[in-house]
Amino acid sequence: MEIMKETIENVSNLLNNKQISSVELVKESLKQIEQTKSLNLLRETYNEQALDVAQIIDEKRTKGEKLTPLSGVPIIIKDNINMKDTLTTCSSKFLANYVSPYNATVVDKLIQAGAIIIGKANMDEFAMGSSSENCAFGVVHNPINPEYVTGGSSGGSAGTVAGNQCFASLGTDTGGSIRQPSAFCGVVGLKPTYGLVSRYGVVAFASSLDQVGPITKTVRDNAIMLDAIAGYDNKEFTSCDVKKENYYKDSFNNSIKGLKIGIAKEFFDLLENEQVIKSCTNAIEFFKQNGAEIIEISLPHIKDALAVYYVLSSAEAASNLARFDGIKYGVPTDEFADIVDFYIKSRTKGFGKEVKRRIMLGNFVLSSGYFDAYYNKAKAVQNLIISEFKNAFSKCDVIISPTTPSSAFKIGEKVNNPLEMYLNDIYTVPVNVATLSALSIPCGVDKNGMPLGLQLIGDRFSESKLYNLGDYFEKNCFSIREVK
Ligand code: GLN
Repeated sequence: MEIMKETIENVSNLLNNKQISSVELVKESLKQIEQTKSLNLLRETYNEQALDVAQIIDEKRTKGEKLTPLSGVPIIIKDNINMKDTLTTCSSKFLANYVSPYNATVVDKLIQAGAIIIGKANMDEFAMGSSSENCAFGVVHNPINPEYVTGGSSGGSAGTVAGNQCFASLGTDTGGSIRQPSAFCGVVGLKPTYGLVSRYGVVAFASSLDQVGPITKTVRDNAIMLDAIAGYDNKEFTSCDVKKENYYKDSFNNSIKGLKIGIAKEFFDLLENEQVIKSCTNAIEFFKQNGAEIIEISLPHIKDALAVYYVLSSAEAASNLARFDGIKYGVPTDEFADIVDFYIKSRTKGFGKEVKRRIMLGNFVLSSGYFDAYYNKAKAVQNLIISEFKNAFSKCDVIISPTTPSSAFKIGEKVNNPLEMYLNDIYTVPVNVATLSALSIPCGVDKNGMPLGLQLIGDRFSESKLYNLGDYFEKNCFSIREVK
């Protein structure tokens, strides 16, 4: 058996039945990481530390202590999540030597659940990008075909799961950064409801949109991960104090009878790619034949979500990134005339091209004279989008769309065309703008063998509905694990 291809559910059983130890699993994981190093999926690994923790968990298991399904399972986190005494670089030169003094809440929670964090994943610098080509430390390659991008910004996180380097990972999603790379790499990615997972200790890009979420090989594994990381955190002021659910135990009933699935005409009007259209049509047909009710809904302002997103996210990024001044963080410049010159030189040296573009755009839309025309207008359209989704969810349980307008593109194909790059996010950003939940699941492969993703969008705190529908589809219609 090729153990690294297994799911969390299966390895957890193997661990419980003592057919494998956690130390062995960590060794297998590190071996696979070494063999697939050229994909540049990871920033660094914590080999000795991981083996030490695995040893402790194996001892606990031998003593018969009650353990969770994640106990002793190797996972990876994105490099914008703080873990004490490790580098958190956000794939930026600015933070190349930054060592975290504390743990993010999600890290504490994973450790508490017994997961073994074996490394950190590469990403687009400060999570800005859709291809993981904006990394200060080299381009990230898709494990399915290294000539293609992984998507971004959590490209390393999605790629490390698809490349069987670990069993699950954490990414962050501000406008699609978990779902889009999950679609491109053929794995399952969840953008949880805004406020469900704590952002404490996660480097902020656009604070009103950012969410941490799990990337896994199957829908059920995703629920196991969400169980570990979700929940109220009094250290974070946007964290929601909602009743804790048990996603793995309670989400699945293996039926979609009577489920109302919404299809927004405006989403499908935008589609051009034949293979994407075909995979979505197949999915809709499958849902219909299995007892779901397909309902046509309307989201008239969805076409404006992309513009709203790029105004709001850039405005928030410009203020969040103001702290990176070369004094508190980063490598200071040696020669400078005065303090302003110092900031300019440090920031010019430290940030990559895309990050600079967002800072300039953000400061422009926030500047007096333009604030009303851009920022306030975007806020007003955001409210319209929120109310349109609210109206839609009074008629249906889940809305479906493609995750992305196409499958993965080749490395280099879109780097010089930022607008074309931004268009990748057309289906994912509305979910962040409206603070909703959404799951991307594999729904087919294109003629080059590259995966396609289906997006299941739920109202706030509808993760269990998404999991049930996603699991039903994965079990009865399409599973990429059977294609591979
Ligand atoms: N691709 C989008 C952007 O570049 C989304 C990024 C994200 O979700 N972090 O802004």
